[in-house]
Amino acid sequence: MLSLSSFYLIVYIWIAVAVFTFLLLLRISAPYGRHSRPGWGPQIGNRTGWILMELPALAVPAIFFFLGQGEKNTVVWVLFLLFIVHYVNRVLVFPFRLRTHGKKMPLVIVFMAVFFNLVNGFIIGYFLGNYGGIYPAGWLSGIPFIAGLILFIAGMSLNWWADNKLIQLRKSSANGYRIPRGGVFRWVSCPNHLGEIVEWAGYAVMMWNPAGLSFAVWTAANLIPRARDHHQWYKETFEDYPPRRRAVIPHVL
Ligand code: NDP
Repeated sequence: MLSLSSFYLIVYIWIAVAVFTFLLLLRISAPYGRHSRPGWGPQIGNRTGWILMELPALAVPAIFFFLGQGEKNTVVWVLFLLFIVHYVNRVLVFPFRLRTHGKKMPLVIVFMAVFFNLVNGFIIGYFLGNYGGIYPAGWLSGIPFIAGLILFIAGMSLNWWADNKLIQLRKSSANGYRIPRGGVFRWVSCPNHLGEIVEWAGYAVMMWNPAGLSFAVWTAANLIPRARDHHQWYKETFEDYPPRRRAVIPHVL
């Protein structure tokens, strides 16, 4: 088993990779969904791509959690189950609800996402499986845990609500796009991304250590550039796009 300081060193290096990835994604939009374009090699069906991309984020934390030699106290069980709830939806429910008939994504995107999810999943699973003993008694009734849980639930609810709303928009228009309206869409183009960022920020607060921080940073590094790209695309595509709407942070970005 790695010492906690060696483990944290790996996590800090991985956070630095996230910052680099963020800067890259600000320049190159990830070529899937509405940003699909030729020139990225062989492609795979969208639904299969989603399942393959996200499967390691469900399986790898579970493997390292159960293999871990640390104390499996209530705190790590609660954190583990909250993580699993999100990824059961993302892997086993969300891809089957998508209205994505005939759409494809580049295999290279799938490989990159698999790699990122392997490392992110390892960090969460390894931490929860091995170092649960660092949480003091009473952690679940302390301020970080309760504040983080509120953020986590709020973010997850927003993410699920917005994903659902976007899936419903496809009802009447084959693979086309419409302007989403109502609820948090009044303020931002991508409440699904905002919800996911808040959710994992909440998780990081609940965990209160570099492993949780790393996951939150990676989520923001992926989704802030993607929301920016979506927002720009909406403005270029729809002449009547609501001018006061922002990309992902109401009134700010
Ligand atoms: P999008 O908003 O791009 O798309 C979600 C689904 O809704 C797709 O099927 C998309 O179709 C469809 N859709 C989107 N906008 C419209 C519209 N205006 N009209 C009609 N249909 C629409 O979401 P992402 O693909 O970026 O992400 C999906 C989920 O995965 C989100 O919840 C996100 O938070 C999460 N995610 C998390 C990441 C992380 O790092 N944790 C990374 C990436 C995603 P189409 O695919 O054809 O565009």
